[in-house]
Amino acid sequence: MALIFVFLDGVGLAPGGPDNPLSDAPTPHLHALLGGPLVLETAQTFYHREVDSIVFKPIDATLGIVGLPQSGTGQTALLAGVNAAALHGRHQPHVPPVALRQLLAEQNILRRVAQRGGRATFANAFTPAYWQALAARRIRKSASVIAAEGAGLRFRDLEDLQRGAAVAWDVSGAAMRGRGEQITLVSPTQAGTALARLAHDHDLVFYENFLPDLAGHGRAQQTTHEVFALLDSFLGAVMAAQRPQDTLLLSSDHGNIESIASPGHTRNPVPLLAVGAKAAAFDKLISIIEIAGIIDEVTR
Ligand SMILES: [Zn+2]
Repeated sequence: MALIFVFLDGVGLAPGGPDNPLSDAPTPHLHALLGGPLVLETAQTFYHREVDSIVFKPIDATLGIVGLPQSGTGQTALLAGVNAAALHGRHQPHVPPVALRQLLAEQNILRRVAQRGGRATFANAFTPAYWQALAARRIRKSASVIAAEGAGLRFRDLEDLQRGAAVAWDVSGAAMRGRGEQITLVSPTQAGTALARLAHDHDLVFYENFLPDLAGHGRAQQTTHEVFALLDSFLGAVMAAQRPQDTLLLSSDHGNIESIASPGHTRNPVPLLAVGAKAAAFDKLISIIEIAGIIDEVTR
């Protein structure tokens, strides 16, 4: 059995309405699963249905710290199970605070699984250009890269992507192709199937996607609706290919895309969606800080 953790950057859970593009985004697979769109009301009605194999609820991403939650501290909290914003004294955007990098490398959930002899993997495909940009210090290491390095994991590449053993951060690979990589675009069905199949050989599969945050900031090629239509097809394919013994987990680091009125992040709760064998274990969560601990439990 395996846990497939899909991390979506910048997805909050807010009431449905004209300010929330998730109210009417074309998401047929999520509708079929949850009985409604990815909005707060659906989570509330769903919660009372007490379905064993599905948990869908809002959880806190503010970490009890004033100001707008950000990716650097939020992703560290998700992956390492610590209150990174409290440790740092504030929310930090983009990448983890320097002082927390070692803690993230040593305590993250990928490493915890690997340290006890489990099989963890980072499903995203990386290009040579990414590693060159890091080496040239044009970009800084994301929380996920620090975590995977700390766990001693192999990073998947474009060859893995093209043989269906990795997933592009934007699902299709269009962003990489736009930067000159000679790759064949991947359909959301192919990408979702590839992610679900990685679960066959692993105990923990981690995948991250930044499209919702980019769309929320108005920096994506696609509209908010297009991003969620793509993610819905992708998630539908993951669930269709998922084995009964596996669990799909979806969450986020902070809100953004769910409010048109706020062009940046929000203090809204984020969705906790768990589907499959171990879903019920996630029912007790109230904050993103607790996710790593439950992953630790259910992957044993
Ligand atoms: Zn952002």
